[in-house]
Amino acid sequence: AYNFNAGPAALPLEVLQQAQEQFVEYQGAGMSIMEMSHRSALYEQVNNESQALMRELFGIPDNYHVLFLQGGASQQFAMIPMNLLRPGQAGAYVKTGAWADKALKEAKFIGETVIAASSENDKYMRMPSVNDFIVPDNAAYLHMTSNETIGGVQFQEFPTNLGNVPLVADMSSDILSRPIDINKFGLIYAGAQKNLGPSGVTVVIVRDDLVQDSPKDIPAIFRYDTHAKNSSLYNTPPSFSVYMVNLVLKWIKSNGGVAAMEQLNRDKTKLIYDAIDQSNGFYIGCAHPDSRSLMNITFRIQSEELEKQFVKESEQNGFVGLKGHRDVGGLRASTYNAVPHESCKALAEFMADFQRRNG
Ligand code: PLP
Repeated sequence: AYNFNAGPAALPLEVLQQAQEQFVEYQGAGMSIMEMSHRSALYEQVNNESQALMRELFGIPDNYHVLFLQGGASQQFAMIPMNLLRPGQAGAYVKTGAWADKALKEAKFIGETVIAASSENDKYMRMPSVNDFIVPDNAAYLHMTSNETIGGVQFQEFPTNLGNVPLVADMSSDILSRPIDINKFGLIYAGAQKNLGPSGVTVVIVRDDLVQDSPKDIPAIFRYDTHAKNSSLYNTPPSFSVYMVNLVLKWIKSNGGVAAMEQLNRDKTKLIYDAIDQSNGFYIGCAHPDSRSLMNITFRIQSEELEKQFVKESEQNGFVGLKGHRDVGGLRASTYNAVPHESCKALAEFMADFQRRNG
């Protein structure tokens, strides 16, 4: 299938085949990786190697921890304020759509929050300028959603003028899709199920000073220092998911690394954005051109009837996942790292053909 699902999303075929080969027996151990103790040398190697590969591919400096946690990105919505927000401070949020809003709502249960910028007036279809962020002096951190998966808008840059206020970013839907200067961030988190592997594991990249500050009056399982001290083996980890992330990271490395992923993503998405832009208004791109996402392409057709027809016919032609999110409707193609160039080419051709028949 041409898999354009938003998440869980396509995995590289080579990775699935490799996992299939190793499914029953991992490296001569007489058992599957899933059946193995997470304290065994073989699993520890998978854990350590995955952390090292994340560091290498994403350019993560030594003063950051790489953690593999559970609970999804949604758990991070809560853990971030639990760990970083103190009385007298405010968690500052950039409101850019559905996911930023969920993060903000969870933080409100923990402490004070403030909105540093919002694109609500643009119906969340254009990212606010980083130069317009208003971050109060008592901000514990500034939270951004680097890519809004539902709206299909992505930040093209990050603020550099925050002083001592740590920048926190939800990169669930665009981690490892482009090179990033990690030094700008205090904490980055991402559920794995779009660009990193299957669901079940969440990657957290967190600067050491923020871990040192973990409050001691919240449960150990929710504290970053607990997981950092135990190299993500405090409790039973999602070992199969971490193993799959390991294979995906090796796949990224063997395909040229994160810069090569970005080029591939630019080439892939150009095919589809061009199909929209060259359609004389038959297809309408939802995101403002300066905020267009390289991961989630949202678009519409003038009539909802035609949109339904598009989804139906696309499915008959082997395309999966092109229906927009249930909250916003329309159409969406998710073009994560593992979505091959051929799938995007096939989609652009299908779009042109559909327009010819219905325009
Ligand atoms: N943040 C973003 C940007 C997402 O796209 C998603 C899921 O689609 C989430 C957070 C929630 O992730 P999880 O389901 O891992 O909690």
